[in-house]
Amino acid sequence: MISGLGHCEDTACSHLLSNPELVRLFRCSLHCDRLLCLYHLNAHNVYYEEEKKQNDVVFNELKTSLTLYQTIFEQHLQEYRQIVHQASTLLLHNTSTIVPIEQIRPVLERIQRAIAIFQQEKGWIFWKKSNLLEKILI
Ligand SMILES: [Zn+2]
Ligand SMILES: [Zn+2]
Repeated sequence: MISGLGHCEDTACSHLLSNPELVRLFRCSLHCDRLLCLYHLNAHNVYYEEEKKQNDVVFNELKTSLTLYQTIFEQHLQEYRQIVHQASTLLLHNTSTIVPIEQIRPVLERIQRAIAIFQQEKGWIFWKKSNLLEKILI
């Protein structure tokens, strides 16, 4: 938006131009509502466009990560429900009949594996990172 003549409100501009010459000013109606010279209005726009591009990249990363996290969490939850159901059924049946050990063992191992995954999660992430690094280096 074209305004009258005056001094650019960008601090870099007023400091650089020590002469009090008046310039054509344009209002930055998109971002800061300041009156700027054409050069600074343009520079300002470029800066915001860049900022927005970087923002979009990070936002997309957030979206992708959230989707992945939700998927992983849902899988864990499903596994948890299955394990709890299997173990509870076995425990319930064991009060009336003797459940064969070969039926108990896989469920027990599944629980122990699940516990190990949660307990070693930090170690696993470290392993994954160093593994990736190795692949990059090779
Ligand atoms: Zn300026
Ligand atoms: Zn602005």
